[in-house]
Amino acid sequence: MSTAAPARWPRIVKDPTAFKRPPNLADPQAARERFRWSDARSWLDGLPGGAGLNIAHEAVDRHLQHGRGARIALRWIGKTGERRDLGYAELAAASSRFANALASLGLGAGDGVFVLMGRLPELYVAMLGALKARAVVTPLFSAFGPEPIATRCEMGDARLIVTTPELYQRKLRALRERLPRLAHVVLVGDAPPALLAEPGVHAWAALVDAQPDTWTIPATPPESPSLLHFTSGTTGRPKGAQHVHEAVLAHAMTGRYALDLHDDDIYWCTADPGWVTGTSYGIIAPLVCGVTSVVVEAEFDAATWYDVLERERVSVWYTAPTAIRMMMRLGTEPLAGRDLSALRFMASVGEPLNPEAVVWGREAFGLPFHDNWWQTETGGIMIANVPALDILPGSMGQPLPGITAAIVQRGTDGHVHPVGPGIDGELALKTPWPSMMRGYLNEQARYAKCFDGEWYLTGDLARVDDEGYYWFVGRADDVIKSAGHLIGPFEVESALIEHPAVAEAGVIGIPDETVGEVVKAFVALKPGFEASEALNRELLGHARKRLGAAVAPKSIEFRTNLPKTRSGKIMRRLLKARELGLPEGDLSTLESDEKK
Ligand code: AMP
Repeated sequence: MSTAAPARWPRIVKDPTAFKRPPNLADPQAARERFRWSDARSWLDGLPGGAGLNIAHEAVDRHLQHGRGARIALRWIGKTGERRDLGYAELAAASSRFANALASLGLGAGDGVFVLMGRLPELYVAMLGALKARAVVTPLFSAFGPEPIATRCEMGDARLIVTTPELYQRKLRALRERLPRLAHVVLVGDAPPALLAEPGVHAWAALVDAQPDTWTIPATPPESPSLLHFTSGTTGRPKGAQHVHEAVLAHAMTGRYALDLHDDDIYWCTADPGWVTGTSYGIIAPLVCGVTSVVVEAEFDAATWYDVLERERVSVWYTAPTAIRMMMRLGTEPLAGRDLSALRFMASVGEPLNPEAVVWGREAFGLPFHDNWWQTETGGIMIANVPALDILPGSMGQPLPGITAAIVQRGTDGHVHPVGPGIDGELALKTPWPSMMRGYLNEQARYAKCFDGEWYLTGDLARVDDEGYYWFVGRADDVIKSAGHLIGPFEVESALIEHPAVAEAGVIGIPDETVGEVVKAFVALKPGFEASEALNRELLGHARKRLGAAVAPKSIEFRTNLPKTRSGKIMRRLLKARELGLPEGDLSTLESDEKK
């Protein structure tokens, strides 16, 4: 019995004779000892002529050379049920056309190419094409409001953005003056002629479709920048986690080991490519592993999702706790009579997966959900419940081959040191590994703060048990996870204090049964303003308009004063403790411990 496993949730013992197919990682323990990153490199081709390692080559073009061009890479299912299959050969041609389009605009290596759109085929083509051109790609979540979009485009020096006419008009058009470096906007779908007459605005069809469908990927040293993913910290602006092409080794390893992808799988990652999971595991890893990925444009709806699982014969499914909890609420009845016999492996990521949900998977789908852990900075899955490992419901699993994890605490010498099983501390990972971020954009000091010697400090609190399973305890900082999306309280506070009535704002996450946490703001008003229902509504509307639905607070409470440290920082921890009726302890005397 492990020290940390709650007795209430019995171990799910894996019986190798019952696997629908032998897992890629048959013996995780042995692989942890034997695995070298050079093994993952040997599964890939590298660019022809030893010209380096490019993610898009490994994800797409390589398959053509192995006779797999006709295999379906993406099976897109549109909101109104329309379908489009893109084979690996077609995806290679389409992404090459996009790389040529970038070149025709004078864009290439190192230039910032952003995408802001829902799950449309062009999103996948653009991201892969930009990687082929060695541009630096940033996905933006389509539910962001203008403020998060502008901040990220400014910080990441966006030169071109691919979006839809609707999103352009609603969110981007008014920002063009503020973003003088954003020279090109590529609109996917039918755009009104007036929009296309605006400076630098192009129709996808006119710009991309007529380009040559061959493209020679320029030499790509493995350390070349590939993706810039924005994530949130406790303070200041969002952090731009800089990734490189070498990360593809980790995508290959984790796709194969953590998600158990075999090249004949039908795979479905429900995450939106506006976030890192939807990019690393909705685009790169599955393509590198040569599977067919189902892409569903529509937002969550249990009946639609079950239809997709059944009709598409999905074999590997990667989803998230919020969605699982929403399905649980409906019970197993909507699943009655469905043929889900193709389903072989189910995994979850992004927020704590309650043990109930792991177990419910068995009741509903005949399989447990396999939780795994990683974050934007790590670039790929680090800790996972892999198929061959027993599950201790509530645990995130064990470190993958090539990854060394520990729970650390800071000692009197000022440095972190691993602690033993059963003791809470910060989850740390031993550097390096290929998909680790190489920096925070223009913020060397913030980046340096993430490390102590060889340890990368994740900002998560966890513990390990005596079998080596990791258990999530909480965040060490104030960031909020709502429906799997990481939200920086500072970004929300900044938008609120732009309102003329607001003197100060403190933003926290309040526990929520379905989405994990919901964003709540506490606001102190400027003299001359009175708290009222109407002002509350106005502030909620203001925040929603500026930040978008994904980031804005769901509720606002007025306070005469907000608790502050001696240096004047708002003590979110104290706000939270008071809100939740938790002991305040010595919180009131602490400087709010600002992490990265
Ligand atoms: P992001 O960078 O947006 O992917 O968020 C990463 C953070 O999400 C981690 O640092 C954790 O706080 C949380 N997270 C990710 N996976 C899990 C998991 N399996 N269990 C608990 N928390 C998780």
